[in-house]
Amino acid sequence: MNLKPISEWGMFENKRPILIAGPCSAETPEQVMATARELAARNVKIFRAGIWKPRTRPGNFEGVGSEGLQWLKRVKQETGMLTTTEVANTTHVFETLKAGIDILWIGARTTSNPFAMQEIADALKGADIPILIKNPVNPDIELWLGAIERLYDAGITRIGVIHRGFSGMSKSIYRNDPVWQIPIEMRRRYPDMPMFCDPSHISGNRKLIEPVSQKAMDLNFDGLMIESHIDPDCALSDAKQQITPARLSEIIDNLVIRHRHSQDAKMAETLEELRAHIDELDNRMLDILQNRMEISKQIGTVKKQNAVTIYQPGRWDAILKTAVEKGEKKGLTENFVAVVFKAIHQESINIQTEIMNSDAPEHVTHAD
Ligand code: PEP
Ligand code: MN
Repeated sequence: MNLKPISEWGMFENKRPILIAGPCSAETPEQVMATARELAARNVKIFRAGIWKPRTRPGNFEGVGSEGLQWLKRVKQETGMLTTTEVANTTHVFETLKAGIDILWIGARTTSNPFAMQEIADALKGADIPILIKNPVNPDIELWLGAIERLYDAGITRIGVIHRGFSGMSKSIYRNDPVWQIPIEMRRRYPDMPMFCDPSHISGNRKLIEPVSQKAMDLNFDGLMIESHIDPDCALSDAKQQITPARLSEIIDNLVIRHRHSQDAKMAETLEELRAHIDELDNRMLDILQNRMEISKQIGTVKKQNAVTIYQPGRWDAILKTAVEKGEKKGLTENFVAVVFKAIHQESINIQTEIMNSDAPEHVTHAD
């Protein structure tokens, strides 16, 4: 995919974070305009509001529908902000394009559904509009990429992603677990992919919005999408995670924006030296692992000759216990040492199993 870098979208200032803010849902013309004015006064340039709301259970507020598009048009006319809303089917696409909405976003539940994504992609053929695709509800990078590719194949060139976390089975402090490895992997595969983070849906509450936003900046995200409402406690959807425009400003002002690359030559040199040191240690680790596995092979051969089982629990427990104790003295966490040693032990067992099952004549050079 040959995606357009965000600097070539022709709509954003060249600074991080690019901020998209506005209520979870457009509720009334007054709520939309009052929120928009407050945000515009705080220098927000892109206004979000859901018009059609995907609710997990029926019977909740499902959005005001097409009527809300006129309110977004008014926001644009009166404040000059760009507008964005969620589309989940072909009707939404046609109506938003007709209303002149500037950016569309695809919600997490829609990204998860290839049929819906294909229909949306077909409806978008020939349209030149930027689209932001939220991650699917489950942590599946391929499903996310599938949605991106469907839009790309439909001729959309300005595509970005929004990381909004993933539903999990276990209880967590987050409403949607961030699983940061997934957006990191997205960046690795597509370094030019514009990436936004949605701290509101990751957090599910007001307290976590600031630390999650900071983390996203530290991971080099281009922008943030944050839910902001003129009267958050009275919001008709996602009330617990919405913040006032004033609080939003405070959070943005508090963010520490680190540079992607250091401008400072001395620091670059120091980093270079440290990386060289790490590469050297990694090479030594590989040599040691090679020796270690060589010896495992010899042990396997001895065990085979003497018809002894491969797995000897007492010995393994002792190795692990000693390693964890020694590791702790060196400041290495128990979890880290256990993970590394378990991987080594597993590989030893694999090697010895292969030897046990092979017909090759045994030849022991060193007894262990
Ligand atoms: C939203 O942005 O309000 C929304 C419904 O988000 P998501 O698709 O991430 O749940
Ligand atoms: Mn919401």
